[in-house]
Amino acid sequence: MIPFLNFKDLNTLYRQELLDVIAGVIDSGHYILGEKVEKFENEFAEYCGVNFVIGTGNGLDALILIIRAYKELGIFQEGDEILVPANTYIASILAITENRLKPILVEPNINTYNLDSKLLEEKITKRTKGILTVHLYGQIAYSDQMQKIADKYGLKIIEDCAQAAGAKFNNRLAGNLGDAAGFSFYPSKNLGAIGDAGAVTTNDTELAEIVRALRNYGSHEKYHNKYKGVNSRLDEIQAAILSVKLKYLDKENNRRREIANMYCKNIKNNNMILPMASDELAHVWHLFVIRTKEREKFVKYMSDNGIGTLIHYPIPPHKQNAYREWSDESHPISEEIHNTIVSLPLSPAMKNNEVLTVIEACNKFV
Ligand SMILES: *Cc1c(COP(=O)(O)O)cnc(C)c1O
Repeated sequence: MIPFLNFKDLNTLYRQELLDVIAGVIDSGHYILGEKVEKFENEFAEYCGVNFVIGTGNGLDALILIIRAYKELGIFQEGDEILVPANTYIASILAITENRLKPILVEPNINTYNLDSKLLEEKITKRTKGILTVHLYGQIAYSDQMQKIADKYGLKIIEDCAQAAGAKFNNRLAGNLGDAAGFSFYPSKNLGAIGDAGAVTTNDTELAEIVRALRNYGSHEKYHNKYKGVNSRLDEIQAAILSVKLKYLDKENNRRREIANMYCKNIKNNNMILPMASDELAHVWHLFVIRTKEREKFVKYMSDNGIGTLIHYPIPPHKQNAYREWSDESHPISEEIHNTIVSLPLSPAMKNNEVLTVIEACNKFV
């Protein structure tokens, strides 16, 4: 039996090291915004090559607080438009509507599943203020062309890095490409905690300062509340765990690449379209997503063969009940993707013989 993903396997290798740092937090007596949070923020800033990292309670809050901070700065206003891929995970879009800005859904490229810079410009209006680009499935969704468009129209680029910790564009890391970025450290992400956690990265001093206040009741200084903030702090125990996991991130991403390369080289089936990486280092393979017209049959066939698969994601945001006001919108590329994608098992904990079993099953599917 090969499960789609076993969360426990992701941490077994580091069990003792994790127990030790958890004990360290218990014994420190500092449980909220202590030195473990500061340590992880500094380490992650150095890893990403950015000036500022602000830990948050989760990835959705990281994105919400970036947009909120741009509102506090007067750069975004309610009703302003943010371009966002139509096939993203719902969280990217919730971060926009939570702030009462307007998501403008843009079709992805059918080959990369990421925003198509060519389709961005035609969606820009006088109210467009930003691009929320999503490095979906672990592949960088940023380009010189996107930056040029942003510069030309004065748009902020916000990266949704939830699935792409460690991915590189030329020599720059995800989180250091746009104006600000949101990370999720949900347990299944490439850099995963043992519970909820997230972070904002940016080189913008003012933005960093506001996000830092917003996550902690809008306060820079105890009992002085400059903004109507929220409570979305990175937990001290999760920060200690993330400092451990960060040391292994590159190694784990390399293992993900190894498995993805085995899949790409050896899966040969005309009923399937395999994913592709524009550049080796630009993809950290959070998910290995294939497309097939025979999805229902394939999922059942894999399950009959003891192999777990999942669909990321079965329903596009514009077909969700939460956004029923968009039910008349049509995004055919996105809909085609949502109707045909399937994710194969891929985790750094997978063994080669398991990878081979998945390949063999895929090749025998008719
Ligand atoms: C996981 C994820 C998020 C949200 O992260 P949480 O930590 O679960 O809030 C946002 N965007 C994308 C693309 C994600 O995959």
